[in-house]
Amino acid sequence: MPDAVSTSTPDPDLRRRALQIHQALLRAFGPPERSHLPPVDELVCTILSQNTNDNNRDRAFEALKARFPSWEAVRDADTQELARVVRVAGLANQKAPRMQEALRRISEFTGGPITLDFLRPWPTEKAREWLMRLPGVGPKTAAIVLLFSLGKPAFPVDTHVYRVTGRLGLRPPRMSVEKAHAWLEQVFPPETYYDAHLNLIRLGRTYCRPRNPRCQECPVRHLCPEGQKRLADRSTPARERETLGDAPKEASEGV
Ligand code: SF4
Repeated sequence: MPDAVSTSTPDPDLRRRALQIHQALLRAFGPPERSHLPPVDELVCTILSQNTNDNNRDRAFEALKARFPSWEAVRDADTQELARVVRVAGLANQKAPRMQEALRRISEFTGGPITLDFLRPWPTEKAREWLMRLPGVGPKTAAIVLLFSLGKPAFPVDTHVYRVTGRLGLRPPRMSVEKAHAWLEQVFPPETYYDAHLNLIRLGRTYCRPRNPRCQECPVRHLCPEGQKRLADRSTPARERETLGDAPKEASEGV
């Protein structure tokens, strides 16, 4: 099993293994489900989600929808008041002006209405580039809007997907999270992006946790170089490990 990955383009073996991992996750977890928001709602919600947890993001988004009757009202609101409304999401003094500027740019582009429906017929890369020119929108936010609201093939890489694909050897170890988006879009077939993205997040939350991953019970341990190493380390008697100078993996985990 390879534990190093070429940094140019993914080779066919890697693509095959990605497909096997996707199929094993589907068998273990089933097809995932996620609520779908209209594109502007998804965009704002994802900006709110940056550097916070899902619970605080949802509370901020609900507060925003309860306080303002439309995206036009959010765009034109007093920025400090908007920041107060979404404070629970954290970094509100940055997120509030970014949201307003993004909404302003959308209405400037459409000539009035705040909608991203004009992106629907566009090719994916053109739509991605347009979204990434908005303030506060990086590759992850753009990919989320493309995949979940516009039904386009994009592979968002959040903290779970980044960690888990690193351990599974599906991307080069030192590849940046930004570059991992384009890389994983080559590794997985486009028709698997939706399920693979959501099931990798579930894997990261339930088994492949940042610390002390549950490799022994993990449904893809047979396809995971890091899991195989960890399991082999565990089955090596402690005295033998000391002789070999091996530290237990958990002690050095920094992902
Ligand atoms: S085997 Fe372990 S390291 Fe590999 S994906 Fe599963 S939990 Fe993560």
